[in-house]
Amino acid sequence: MGGRWVEARSGKRFSTRNPATGELLAEVAEGDAADIDLAVAAARRAFDGQWSNWKPADRQRLLLKLADLVEADIEQLAMLDTLDMGAPISRTRASKQRAVGMLRYYAGQAVSIHGETIENSLSGEIFSYTLKEPLGVVGAIIPWNSPLGATLWKIGPALATGCTVVLKPAEEAPLTPLRIAELCAAAGVPEGVVNVVPGYGETAGAALAAHNGVDKLAFTGSHLTGQKIVRASAGNLKRLSLELGGKSPDIVFADADLDAAVPGAAMAVFANSGQVCSAGTRLFVERRIYSEFTQRVAEFSRSLKLGNGLDPETQVGPLVSSEQLDRVTAYLRLGAQEGARVVSGGARATEGALANGYFVPPTVFVDVQDEMTIAREEIFGPVLSAIPFDDVDEVIARGNRTEFGLGSGVWTRDVTKAHRLARALRAGS
Ligand code: ADP
Repeated sequence: MGGRWVEARSGKRFSTRNPATGELLAEVAEGDAADIDLAVAAARRAFDGQWSNWKPADRQRLLLKLADLVEADIEQLAMLDTLDMGAPISRTRASKQRAVGMLRYYAGQAVSIHGETIENSLSGEIFSYTLKEPLGVVGAIIPWNSPLGATLWKIGPALATGCTVVLKPAEEAPLTPLRIAELCAAAGVPEGVVNVVPGYGETAGAALAAHNGVDKLAFTGSHLTGQKIVRASAGNLKRLSLELGGKSPDIVFADADLDAAVPGAAMAVFANSGQVCSAGTRLFVERRIYSEFTQRVAEFSRSLKLGNGLDPETQVGPLVSSEQLDRVTAYLRLGAQEGARVVSGGARATEGALANGYFVPPTVFVDVQDEMTIAREEIFGPVLSAIPFDDVDEVIARGNRTEFGLGSGVWTRDVTKAHRLARALRAGS
C-alpha cells in the first residue's frame, strides 16, 4: 500500500492454503476497514499528485513495461495461481498469452481513448467537444478463480485511463495479486497508484464498496455479493462495473461435429473444475443424439486426469476450498435426490493423496429437468446437467429461462441456425 509492504493496522493475519493438499502456504496481512481507509487515502494522494500529469504515452510505456515484467515472471505467477487456487499448471502457464496480451491491449487503449467534436446549430463559430478524463480512485474486488487474469483485468484499464486503484483480492487466493503489486512497483508505477489490500469480503470488501472516497467500483464475483455491492455503493452513487455469475446454456444439435462437441461441451464445464462464471453447465442435447452424446461426454469426463495442479499431467485440479467442496457436494446430493442420474463422478474423490485436498471428479447428470435446483443455480464446480430438447424454438425458450445471462454456446454445422440462436439467446457472450 502506498508503494510499501505494511502489516494490517490490527496486526491480524489470515492463512492461505494449497487446496490440493490442505497445506499452509502463507500467512497474509488481514486488512479491514482501517486499512481500506489508508489505501484509499494513498490512492487519492497519488491521483491528485504527479500521476495526474502523466501523459497518455507515459502510461502506455508503463503498461508495456509491466507487460514485459509479467511475461518474464510468468512461471512464478503461474505457480502462485496453481498453489493458491489449485488450477492445473498447464492451464495457468497457458494464461501467459492472455495476461500479457491484455496488458499490451490496455497500453494501446492509453493512447486511443478520445473525446468527440460535436457540431451544433447555434449561430456563430460555436462547436462542442467532449474530453475523456480519469474518474479518480477505483476500488476493485476480485474472485479467486483466475487471480492473475482478474488482477490485470482490473489494474490494466485503471492505469491506461490515469486512475488509481485499491484492489482487494479474494481471501482464498491473495498471493498472485500481491506479486503483481511488486511487479507494478518494479515497472515504475508511482507510489499509491496501485494498492493491494488482502482481507475478507465482509470486512475489507464491504468497506471498499461503501467508501465515499472511491469513485468507481469494479467487481467480479457472485451475483449475491454483486447485489450487496450495488446497495453498498449507493452512499456516494459510485459508478459500478459488475461481472457476475451464470448458468449458461450450451446447445448441441444433431448436425454438429460431434467429435469436436464432445470434448468441447465437457471442457466448457470441467475446465478450472467448473469454477468459471460462463461455464456451459446446462447442456441441452437434441433428443435423437441425447443418449449417445451424453454417454460419450461421460466417457470423456472419466478419462480426464484429476489431481494436484502442480503435476503437468493434471487436467482437473481441486476446488478452491473446503467451503467450496461442501457447497458442490451438497448440490451433488440434491441432484440425486431430485431425480437426476449420475453417469460420471458424483461424489468427492478420496483415493490416495486426493483425500487431503478438495477434489470432485467431473460429474455428469442425465435426466435433468429444467426445474431441478442443479439446472437453475450456479454450482461453481465440475457438474454438468444434460437435458434433452426437440426443436429450435423450444431450446431458445428453455435456454433463456434463467435469471442469469452471461454466456451461451451453440454446436451445429448449420450457419443460419447458429446465427439465429446467437441472436435469440439472451446472453452477454
Ligand atoms: P465467490 O463465491 O466466488 O467467492 P464472492 O462474490 O463471495 O464469490 O467473492 C468475490 C469477491 O467478493 C471476493 O474478493 C470476496 O472477498 C468479496 N466479497 C464477499 N462478500 C463481500 C461483501 N459483502 N462486500 C464486498 N466484497 C465482498
